[in-house]
Amino acid sequence: MSGIYLHIPFCKSKCSYCNFCSIALLKQKTDFLKALENELQANSKNINEIEFSSIYFGGGTPSILNYNEIQNVFEVLYKYYKFTKNCEISFEANPEDLSSEYLKNLKNTPINRLSIGLQSMDDKILKLLRRRHNVERSVNSVIDAYNLGFENISVDVIYGINGLRSENFENHLKEICKLPVTHISAYHLEIEKGTLLYRLLNENKISEIDDSLSFEHYSILIDTLQSFDFRQYEISNFAKNNKISHHNSSYWDRSIYYGFGPSAHSFDGKQRFYNTTNIQNYIAEGLKNNFSVEYDKLSESDIINEYLMLSLRTSKGLNLEDYQQHFGNSELSRLKAKVSKLNQDWFNYTEKFLSLTKEGMFVSNHILINLFVE
Ligand code: SF4
Repeated sequence: MSGIYLHIPFCKSKCSYCNFCSIALLKQKTDFLKALENELQANSKNINEIEFSSIYFGGGTPSILNYNEIQNVFEVLYKYYKFTKNCEISFEANPEDLSSEYLKNLKNTPINRLSIGLQSMDDKILKLLRRRHNVERSVNSVIDAYNLGFENISVDVIYGINGLRSENFENHLKEICKLPVTHISAYHLEIEKGTLLYRLLNENKISEIDDSLSFEHYSILIDTLQSFDFRQYEISNFAKNNKISHHNSSYWDRSIYYGFGPSAHSFDGKQRFYNTTNIQNYIAEGLKNNFSVEYDKLSESDIINEYLMLSLRTSKGLNLEDYQQHFGNSELSRLKAKVSKLNQDWFNYTEKFLSLTKEGMFVSNHILINLFVE
């Protein structure tokens, strides 16, 4: 499994919780696409032997691209790279962009999986999050996409928002599960520095959810999605009929992936490297065909910690035999000793795998800090 990620860094406006690499300067779109094309072409010389099994358009908002712009990107991809026959091609879209006409056009591209930023089934929360759509638009966009032939649809949901009553959240999830979706990515709201919500929090205009309500929401999430046959295969990801995101799974499996566009990360099987997060610099340098990447210099401890972090995110968990082969007996003993000192209700332990229970996944950050090599 190996994937290509394309970062489209534009949004029409900034959501109140967002600290992703995105700007609202749409007039730079043409220059950006040229820079992206240059980057795809320049890197193809090194990696044109790989047969990629996934492409992921993320952002930002890929659905700000029009049909011709999307087709041009595919032309470049198919000119310089090889792909498997059943390549999974995901495209992130905001509901307000998904008019019937736009969806019909998308259906004429190779895209075969949509990831729609639904976020909430409560209009007040959508306003707080500064999303541009309302609930009606989200629901219609999913139904229209399905009716126009998209059978693999994922939606994003944000939970852990103070003020959202548990019974309402449960009802919202049930409504979402009844939509023709095969995959749900659910993220707990994190109020990050530099966002509008962070400012509102500091001005005491909003408050953060307390831990017990947060856990209640999390339990409702797991139990409700499970009752609709959505299997949790990663901390934040649930799939029905085994329609997991193959692209995202390649990150957790430590498979090869190459990222293009500002802030995009890559892993070539040995090293991790990433592009500049400065969108203006990316465009300016890309137009001159002058690309540079920063390499992560990982120590042995970093590599072990990364392995722990990625594998324990998945419901399959950490393969103990593989871990021993990679890092040796003494490291495996160290890990087991650390695990034994923590709450055993957080772990599923079998002969071959160590994974986190529902309770464990909720406190995964705390667990990881305790398991990490210093
Ligand atoms: S649409 Fe996504 S990337 Fe754009 S501002 Fe909102 S959260 Fe951020």
